[in-house]
Amino acid sequence: MKISLGMWLAIGLAGLQFLAVTVVVFSSYLTSERAMLDHARNLLSDAGTNTIEHSRGFLNPASGAAELATRLAENKIVASDNPKLLEKLLFQQLRSAPQFGGVFYGDEEGNFVYVKRSDGAGPFRSKIVTRDGENRSTELIWRNDKFAVMDSRPDREDTYDPRARPWYQRASEDLGIIWTDPYIFFTSQTPGITIASPVIGNDNTLQGVIGVDIEISEISSFLARLKIGENGTALILNRNGDVIAHPSPELIKAENPDGTHRFANIGEIADPIARAAFENLSDMSFVSIDEETSAEFEFGGERYVSTVMPIISEKLPWTIAVYAPENDFIGAIKKNRTQNIWTAAIIALLTGIVGLWLANYIHKPVRAFAVRSALISQGELDPSAPIPRSYKELDRANEALMHEIAERKKTEHEYGQTFDMSSRGMAQIEAGTARYAKVNSKFCDIMGYTEDELTKMTILDLSYPGEPTIFPTLNSEDSDDFAFNLEKRCIRKDGEVIWLKINAIMIRDEAGKPLHAVATVDDITNQKAAETQIHKLNKDLSHIARGNMLGEMAAGLAHELNQPLTAITQNVDAALTTATEQPKIDPELIDILKDLDQQAHRAGDIIKALRAFARKDEASKAEFDFQELLDQSLRLIQSEANEHGVNISVVSNDLPSVTGVRVQTAQVLVNLLRNAIEAMDCSGIDEKLITVTTKAIDGFVEVCVEDTGPGVDPNLNLFTQFETTKSDGMGLGLSISRSIVEANGGALWYHRNKVEHSCFCFTLPTTELAENRIEDVVKT
Ligand code: ADP
Repeated sequence: MKISLGMWLAIGLAGLQFLAVTVVVFSSYLTSERAMLDHARNLLSDAGTNTIEHSRGFLNPASGAAELATRLAENKIVASDNPKLLEKLLFQQLRSAPQFGGVFYGDEEGNFVYVKRSDGAGPFRSKIVTRDGENRSTELIWRNDKFAVMDSRPDREDTYDPRARPWYQRASEDLGIIWTDPYIFFTSQTPGITIASPVIGNDNTLQGVIGVDIEISEISSFLARLKIGENGTALILNRNGDVIAHPSPELIKAENPDGTHRFANIGEIADPIARAAFENLSDMSFVSIDEETSAEFEFGGERYVSTVMPIISEKLPWTIAVYAPENDFIGAIKKNRTQNIWTAAIIALLTGIVGLWLANYIHKPVRAFAVRSALISQGELDPSAPIPRSYKELDRANEALMHEIAERKKTEHEYGQTFDMSSRGMAQIEAGTARYAKVNSKFCDIMGYTEDELTKMTILDLSYPGEPTIFPTLNSEDSDDFAFNLEKRCIRKDGEVIWLKINAIMIRDEAGKPLHAVATVDDITNQKAAETQIHKLNKDLSHIARGNMLGEMAAGLAHELNQPLTAITQNVDAALTTATEQPKIDPELIDILKDLDQQAHRAGDIIKALRAFARKDEASKAEFDFQELLDQSLRLIQSEANEHGVNISVVSNDLPSVTGVRVQTAQVLVNLLRNAIEAMDCSGIDEKLITVTTKAIDGFVEVCVEDTGPGVDPNLNLFTQFETTKSDGMGLGLSISRSIVEANGGALWYHRNKVEHSCFCFTLPTTELAENRIEDVVKT
């Protein structure tokens, strides 16, 4: 299917602007989103790094405190027996860093001094356990900032033994500073870690263990303050997947079956988004995490980005996990993008409408031009009618079109005239139906039908039954044939069978599909009849030639043998007479002579019979048109003349009809013409020409056959039987011809005046003369 120019324009304009808008919107869509997501990941990473730094900074004083305590212990300050002094020292340590929840020292005897921050009667509370053998006492003292006692009381229920605590046991086993995993402090129920260091005495034995509780709930507060996008969250996971810090600190605590508390694991925390993001991190060792990992995930129909930081350090095998909704970063862009798409769609729509209007406006004159051209082509509009709104190009096309139309009309007119006025029959035949679409008057004359009748008929309606027809082959789309020539019989309206010579060409379109055939038709019935006559003449000629040849030979032989036979007969007669006059004669000799006489007479009779056989048959003399006979004879000999390069010219006047044996006369003509052709069949002759001249003279028609050959051999006895100069000649042709002409009442002679060339002439009596002669014979 072909698309119109208007459609192309519309599609082109609308398509281009749509493409341009799409490319701009889509590219900004992709690039802005990618940039913002990268930005989001960087933000998460920054938050993670911040948290790591904060955590490190937060925990740094702990190790400092532990080291200091160890050094003090080594200076025998810690290991003194004075619990009050130890309490003061621990108090000072506690106040050195706000994150210290408590500082404590337990010794091998089970003595324990513990200073911690308090909400009770004073901001600080000390717990001092002293043992003396099986006796133990526990005193609780509340103090203010200045270490002044605010309140104190004994705790008789207390059973606390430092040596049973894990921090004591690990430090005494490792004999070095230990960091516990985060846990929920027993007394404060807040999350924290404990750093503990063994105190070694002078005798290198373990005196006790000094430790610091560091509350890490502050890290959760820090996380709560941390700004990560609009709704981003950072949390800290321990190596075992426990969540040890979370902006909502209440979420990190879980209750054990025995009522004690522990950290909630990432797989169970009441933060479903964190669960969805980092569930895979539960129950795993973080040691393997050594590089930052970013990911994207979907939760509750919303998209999120997440980052997991590498672990902080060997001592602190924690990792920071951060997540935030994508929309925090690209929400504005998405909103902006939706706005852009709508803006682009509206622009596309508006420009599309304008484009269509423009395309229509541009195309309108082209459309009008096409309609106008179609109307002009169908003859419904005068080509000189003005063009409406147009373009330069259309004006030029219009001029060309007008010129073409004028030329086409002229050609059609000329073709129509040629068709109608042709002296030959012409017909236009429809390709599919073989119906006569158009015929000229000559064709009507040939077939005897009117034009109306013929245009309702097909070629088969006129065809003689059984005649070949090539039209179906020519009509086939597969055929490459464009033309055919054939001679065939057809039936006229009056029933007469006529011969037609048909030349037809098939007009095809560019694809080779037949459109119609144009046939030129000639009535060759007369020509066919003439050919039949010539054929018959030829047949008769060869028949008569054989007869004449035989007769002429017989006559010749009879003539030659007659004389010796007559001599034999006379001599036998004389011998018989002489013998019978002898007195004594052998009767057997008489018998022999008589037999000889008889045989000689018999031979004479045979010769007489032979001569009678050789006499010409005079029965078929009749009146005929010599001119017609001459034409036919020339056509018979024409191919022979052509073969030898001989031209034949005829100089002829109106001739009266002649009387004679037609076929014999033809043979004379053919003999003379053939002799002339053969005479010129030698080298050195520039122009091989035979001139046949006919004229009527004194009751005769005289015919002369002259050639441009070398002339007759002077040594030759013309018209004598068996006289020939040809190796394959019989020398009978001329004598037969002369005897034929004479038998027909004419004469044949050689024109001796013409020395260079040969000229043989003969005459035939006109019918008038022949009839007069018969009358004369009848009268006498
Ligand atoms: P054939 O043709 O068999 O020889 P013809 O009787 O027709 O017998 O001719 C006898 C001879 O007459 C030829 O051999 C030829 O020499 C001579 N002759 C006949 N016609 C011509 C001619 N037109 N020009 C020259 N010689 C001719």
